[in-house]
Amino acid sequence: MVQTQSEIAALLDYDRRHVWHPYTSPTHPLPVYPVAAAHGVYVRLMDGRELIDGMASWWCVIHGYNHPRLNAALREQADKMAHVMFGGLTHDPAIKRARSLINSTPHKLQKVFFCDSGSVAVEVAMKMALQYQTALSRGRAKHFLTIRGGYHGDTLGAMSVCDPVTGMHQLFSGALPIQFFARRPGALDKGWREDDIADFQAQLEAHHHEIAAVIMEPVVQGAGGMYFYAPEFLRRVRVLCDKYGILLILDEIATGFGRTGRMFACEHAGIAPDIMCLGKAVTGGYMSFAATLTTERVGEVIGRREGVFMHGPTFMANPLACAVANASLELLAEMDIGVDVGRISEGLRRGLEPCRELPAVAEVRALGAIGVVEMKTPVDVAVIQQVFVERGVWIRPFGRLIYIMPPYIITNTELDFLTRQMVEVIKNL
Ligand SMILES: *Cc1c(COP(=O)(O)O)cnc(C)c1O
Repeated sequence: MVQTQSEIAALLDYDRRHVWHPYTSPTHPLPVYPVAAAHGVYVRLMDGRELIDGMASWWCVIHGYNHPRLNAALREQADKMAHVMFGGLTHDPAIKRARSLINSTPHKLQKVFFCDSGSVAVEVAMKMALQYQTALSRGRAKHFLTIRGGYHGDTLGAMSVCDPVTGMHQLFSGALPIQFFARRPGALDKGWREDDIADFQAQLEAHHHEIAAVIMEPVVQGAGGMYFYAPEFLRRVRVLCDKYGILLILDEIATGFGRTGRMFACEHAGIAPDIMCLGKAVTGGYMSFAATLTTERVGEVIGRREGVFMHGPTFMANPLACAVANASLELLAEMDIGVDVGRISEGLRRGLEPCRELPAVAEVRALGAIGVVEMKTPVDVAVIQQVFVERGVWIRPFGRLIYIMPPYIITNTELDFLTRQMVEVIKNL
């Protein structure tokens, strides 16, 4: 049903006065567009316009909206039970979910902690690392080492390992734990240089007694700048972590489930972390759900002397989320990620190529189903977003970055349309 102009205006007015949106001023919010429904790669606005979604709703909706099999999984589970507490109880969707995650992630990861969002999965990972080091009597190991340019979430612990400049450190200075930051490696297309690991190695050598774990996003740094770096860096990090008995946490919340052209981005480097965080696409974008996986060894150490792991969210292993996550993983298993994501990768490369020539563009890059146009100066989000909407696409830039990571089901024709609109809009900036 298409709503009248005045009904829509009333809704938007209430939204503007009472509802907070992500990273938005409480008093002068940017405009928002009201959505009525979504199907496949299309988001339908209340005024009836349909937009091709270039964002997969922030990396999540990998199989498209309103997917019949995901809907069915959710409905079937709702008829059995929507939720039960996980303290003292367990259920088939959670066990099935654990088994399929353990079977699809690196072999080393054998234990799963289910939680409710990516940021919480990062908090859980950090707490695991701290409890592990405490159990080993490495009492000073209370800090984390990461590389600059990262993004790990918005809760306090996760924020402390986000990039100290582009992140939110300044606003919360004094309230965040102090962490160690190393220079990030050079860009992927520049190839590997030995010097890329130097600063990281120096920091680890100098501070290893104080470091519980290294945390990073493998190969692709997402919200911190849509930056790609060489997998060789991860191999070196793995070796250094082992040398000093420091855990390696890989945050695959954005990169996991095929986005980079491999099921998990750590596969590009052929290494496995000690702790892996998953989120975003885990339910195919249906609901907030996340998981932190770790090794037998980490579990065994934390469990020594009757130790317990001190975390337990109310909605831990929510059956609805587990059921839809299982269905999403089944759909992924039916795909050939290399081929299917490779097709999108090619479309992105081909489609965005004309941007290279444009004077306002600093760089164009693509990896897996991620296409990025980096501008020389920041874009005006409100203005450019309106232009995109008028052209029938949903793209939400930030800073100097105009990027897309569409659902995997996007057809070549739709992808072509999407990239063409990007080129046209950037040309006219
Ligand atoms: C989005 C994201 C998070 C945070 O996930 P939320 O579900 O928003 O809390 C953490 N790490 C990475 C790499 C992310 O992209």
